[in-house]
Amino acid sequence: MTDRRFLMGTYPEPPVTFVRGEGSVLFDAEGRSYLDFIGGLAVTSLGHAHPAVTEAVSRQAATLTHVSNLYGNVLAPEVAATIDRLIGGGEEQAGGQVFFCNSGAEANECAIKVARRWAGRGRYVVVSTENSFHGRTLAALAATGQAAKHTGFEPMPAGFPAVPFDDLEAMAKALEGADVAAVLVEAIQGEGGVVVPSSDYLRGLRDLCTEHGALLMVDEVQTGFGRTGEWFAFQHEHLEPDVVTMAKALGNGMPVGACWARAEVAAAMVPGDHGSTFGGQPLAMAAVRATLGVMEAEDVCGRATAAGSRLRDGLGSLDAIGGVRGRGLLLAAQLTGGGAAAASAACLEAGLLVNAVRPDALRFSPSLLVGNEQIDAALAIVAAALEGLQRAGAQ
Ligand SMILES: *Cc1c(COP(=O)(O)O)cnc(C)c1O
Repeated sequence: MTDRRFLMGTYPEPPVTFVRGEGSVLFDAEGRSYLDFIGGLAVTSLGHAHPAVTEAVSRQAATLTHVSNLYGNVLAPEVAATIDRLIGGGEEQAGGQVFFCNSGAEANECAIKVARRWAGRGRYVVVSTENSFHGRTLAALAATGQAAKHTGFEPMPAGFPAVPFDDLEAMAKALEGADVAAVLVEAIQGEGGVVVPSSDYLRGLRDLCTEHGALLMVDEVQTGFGRTGEWFAFQHEHLEPDVVTMAKALGNGMPVGACWARAEVAAAMVPGDHGSTFGGQPLAMAAVRATLGVMEAEDVCGRATAAGSRLRDGLGSLDAIGGVRGRGLLLAAQLTGGGAAAASAACLEAGLLVNAVRPDALRFSPSLLVGNEQIDAALAIVAAALEGLQRAGAQ
């Protein structure tokens, strides 16, 4: 049934409805196949229906799905330790603690509460950046530096100023306020158009936060788990954040999020301070355990780097593309002639999913296990689509 009358109209009418997926390929109801270079918005990093994740989820569903956090389960502590080790780079524990939730917005809500609890003494301000995206719940939305998304939902929760991204001077000024508890920033602005800051930006933020006694909270919801070629994008810049939020790729499609905090910061949270009915439940944790296991075994960081440079080089060689930005397999191609929505529609028509992340830029976030032949096939479709649009525009 594709009658959407009973769905709240928060999304535009979708161009296609999918019924099945396998690796980097999706199938619609008519059996037509599509190459998926969106990956559910950087979620299905191991591709659709990865056998190891499917097996783990199926087995867990038949064993124990949920008990609530009134009781323990054997999976959450183990998964938390793995996440903590990946925050530390993969070899050694970082020594922090994890709160499990169900989405990226919730992971940021946890981070914001951690910051307020930790800072205390009337320090409640969380400084974010313009054009950022941190989720749609009210506090995460307030921290999202896009006024258009706030319209109609005011008043926003107080204490969420946004300063220009990649501007250390502006952040230094914002941190002079005595009421600042934390900075919340994406390592790469994803929804903002895949914007990579200068290489000294995150380290500069680290120094500023240390100097002012504020927390550096990095939103890795989109960039986490190998997508940029490191487990987390902040690791490219060799610094230690105080808080890291994650979600999207964490469960390869199972809805799950997490907020990690350095131990001294996490210690501010005590029983009763925060909670989630579903957070850390066995079914989600089984998906995460399997996902992270495959990610490590397959060296997804190395694969994202290699596949990313193949995709980047191919896109960069096309006439209609003026530049490619991003890292690993989180890329955006800047279209010289604009028209990203038309380009994305033409690609879809030709059997390729890409996303018009800006009116003049296409985003690519395929599975980290995508094959070279699939990359080349996608490049051929993008090239033909852009040529077709150029021809049509010249007429
Ligand atoms: C997608 C995203 C979120 C929100 O995640 P949801 O699961 O949709 O709540 C938050 N931050 C960043 C950087 C994101 O890309």
